[in-house]
Amino acid sequence: MSSSDLCRRCGLCCDGNLFSHVPLEHSEVDAARRHGLEVVQLAGGAPALRQCCPALRARQCSVYGARPEGCRRYGCRLLDALSRQTLSLEEALAVVERAHALLAVVERGLEPEPDRFVSVLERARFASWGGADGSSSSTNAARERAEAFLDEHFHGGPRRFEFLAGG
Ligand code: SF4
Ligand code: SF4
Repeated sequence: MSSSDLCRRCGLCCDGNLFSHVPLEHSEVDAARRHGLEVVQLAGGAPALRQCCPALRARQCSVYGARPEGCRRYGCRLLDALSRQTLSLEEALAVVERAHALLAVVERGLEPEPDRFVSVLERARFASWGGADGSSSSTNAARERAEAFLDEHFHGGPRRFEFLAGG
């Protein structure tokens, strides 16, 4: 098993729970659309991929060979720690599974969502702001636990609304 095995069992930087968008070069827009990715314009006109990415299948990128440069460059804190061998693959996989388990707890407190391209945390934040499906205090607490866990292990700090940036 290698570090890429970690990403194949994670997908959190593509499912909208870590990032709302991935920046795109203008030259990448046509190819992204051809691959069925959702291209939007950010303030100022810069193109970006909206997350959750429709190319994500069972936690893996289905257009891996053609993924945009912003996706290629990105590595989270956990992947970096694995690469520097400050934790083992087994430990990193346990973190990934814990993150998905925390998100599953949040999702159980939400109304079913017909649009599978909206992340669990996005739905939970919307609900906590008084959105259509409301949100209980236990769901809010579960959301905050999941956010804190993602911030600590993947972002390395509270930056949950930032765009995915090359590193
Ligand atoms: S969040 Fe990190 S471990 Fe997960 S797929 Fe992205 S880079 Fe890989
Ligand atoms: S194109 Fe692939 S790597 Fe990029 S956000 Fe979508 S699923 Fe993730």
